[in-house]
Amino acid sequence: MTTAQTSVTQGEIDSRYNKLKSEGEGSGYFLNPDIEVTKELVKGLLINERRYGYMACPCRLASGDKAQDLDIICPCDYRDADLSEYDTCYCSLYVSQPVVKGEKSIGPIPERRPKDRVRKKPESNVQKGLSALPLPVWRCRVCGYLCARDGPPELCPICKAKKDRFERFI
Ligand code: SF4
Repeated sequence: MTTAQTSVTQGEIDSRYNKLKSEGEGSGYFLNPDIEVTKELVKGLLINERRYGYMACPCRLASGDKAQDLDIICPCDYRDADLSEYDTCYCSLYVSQPVVKGEKSIGPIPERRPKDRVRKKPESNVQKGLSALPLPVWRCRVCGYLCARDGPPELCPICKAKKDRFERFI
């Protein structure tokens, strides 16, 4: 299957699907077991990757400016909170284990992304405690993983988000 608009082939979709599935399951994240729906979402991710140069969320309107869209590059900053609260991410690409097992079903969920997308970052008690560390602390904005090192890791060891999804925590 190839279109002039996207040039995304079925082979590319299958390959990315398999990659996301194995990476996710290695870290405790599960793709939606409805393969047809999931592969359509993977196709959307690939189209956005071609269009913008990064995997913008297939269910949201990306600006095309990576700095503006960082929070909605898949896996987005909102995935874990939505999985915890609703057993699915906003697009239903990722679902909880009870959904995979058929113990729960999913429905539509509200958009968690702030309308103005302004992130306020008051210093927490954790931040105050970590500020004594000799190295800067980096936080994965997707899953919250923290590490103290000179710079952010290339890949989050937990959720596999890329380096540019880390922010300086302390
Ligand atoms: S994890 Fe976030 S970015 Fe990825 S498909 Fe789900 S809602 Fe969209």
